[in-house]
Amino acid sequence: MKKQHLFIGGKHTESVRYTTLQAPYSGETLAEVASASAEETEAAVAAAVQARQAMCQMPAHQRADLLYKLSAMLEERREEAARIVALEAAKPITAARAEIDRTIETYRFAAEEAKRLTGETVPMDAARGGEGRIGYTMRQPIGVIGAITPFNFPMNLAAHKVGPALAAGNTIVLKPAEQTPLSAYFIANLFHEAGLPDGALNVVSGDGKTIGDVLVQHPDVAYITFTGSPAVGTGIRSKAGLKRVTLELGSNAAVIIDKDADLDKVIPRCVTGAFTYQGQVCISLQRIYVHEAIAENFIQRFAAAAEQVVIGDPLNEDTMVSALITSKDVKRTLEWIEEAKQAGASVAVGGKAEAGVLRPTVLVNVPREAKVSCQEVFAPIVVINTVNSVEEGTKHVNDSMYGLQAGVFTNDIQTALRAVDEIEAGGVMINDIPTFRVDHMPYGGVKQSGIGREGVKYAAEEMTELKFVMFNKN
Ligand code: NAD
Repeated sequence: MKKQHLFIGGKHTESVRYTTLQAPYSGETLAEVASASAEETEAAVAAAVQARQAMCQMPAHQRADLLYKLSAMLEERREEAARIVALEAAKPITAARAEIDRTIETYRFAAEEAKRLTGETVPMDAARGGEGRIGYTMRQPIGVIGAITPFNFPMNLAAHKVGPALAAGNTIVLKPAEQTPLSAYFIANLFHEAGLPDGALNVVSGDGKTIGDVLVQHPDVAYITFTGSPAVGTGIRSKAGLKRVTLELGSNAAVIIDKDADLDKVIPRCVTGAFTYQGQVCISLQRIYVHEAIAENFIQRFAAAAEQVVIGDPLNEDTMVSALITSKDVKRTLEWIEEAKQAGASVAVGGKAEAGVLRPTVLVNVPREAKVSCQEVFAPIVVINTVNSVEEGTKHVNDSMYGLQAGVFTNDIQTALRAVDEIEAGGVMINDIPTFRVDHMPYGGVKQSGIGREGVKYAAEEMTELKFVMFNKN
């Protein structure tokens, strides 16, 4: 049985406690994984503090080389990494490979950002009294970063924190989700092999609250970057005091489909958006508002396409939908479907679960108050309602406590421009699903979807302190 220790100060460190990690689909035991205590988390912070000088003194070209090297090493071990994700997260293998490919690119973007973290000059004589002075800004590493990540993209969402943090010369304590620690340790080992100074990246797996409370409240941790659920994110913000915090939280992402949209293109994109990785994606397509002129045709074709989706073993090359992350989620989602039905919704397809796998489910005419519509469903469930215009659709999109990304399919430029202005979200995708993301674009939410932006350049900036310098020539 594989025993996975903590990774602190460049060493695999035995923990006082271990828990058994099982694959969500097969139930197979994957490893005994360390569950860090508060003291062990403090030791990880101390190691990160110690490594600060080595990282601060490392020139940008060396930080970039390290990140390029990591990216190349990951490319060589792509299949091994994808299998780890497929097993511990029940992510279908093709989606797991796609995640690794994005992770390789995210670290490459981080390598590039390491070389272009710049300040600017300030025209001092623009102010009376500023004559004869030179002013400029510079960006310095913020210090020790506490990074807390969710289960659903265990490699790439960790890369969105570790990559920019190292690019900007910081050190990190990474706390992966309970269900997906092996991905984090895999990356930590690669960084170690690549020559990262000991202590620059530490990994502590285990209970969220035990480890999270230490990281969030520790005086030596300068910044918390969290991706996960709104409930946990809100708790972190309330405990963090003056510490800088970035929160990447959930959503109930929506798309609007106008009457002139080309359904041959739209339907496959909506299937991808709603069902990839069984809907356990923060920008998974959950709500569809389709123009009444094409609604019947759309619903019929979309439901037929949903029925074709292959479900089952994540290691099967054809699988698109596998087990939900826990059996509790299966129970919850079936209850939510039942609640929607009681409230008048009809099930066009799906609505049943077998062996931990919820079948792709399409619900029609769902009232706005039903949980499947107004809360984050995080499962392969999509609700479809009809609207008489994109304007009406926009009102429904905004009728949400969340606002991460939204999509609009329309060929009318004025309609598109108006939707861009009016939709309340961190990103608007015209002629695509809200689920679209590449890793250098700014990414983050409004309302309860979060605070701050990721996307390597934007994250790297948040992981620095802006210092202003003035030289008096008088
Ligand atoms: P989660 O909030 O349950 O857990 C996320 C992380 O927080 C885990 O590492 C967990 O151990 C830790 N945690 C738990 N309690 C904590 C506490 N009290 N203090 C500090 N940390 C604690 O989320 P999850 O189920 O792993 O992931 C799903 C959620 O993540 C969904 O809401 C999804 O939308 C969101 N998500 C958001 C984005 C984004 O970029 N906006 C991306 C992916 C996932």
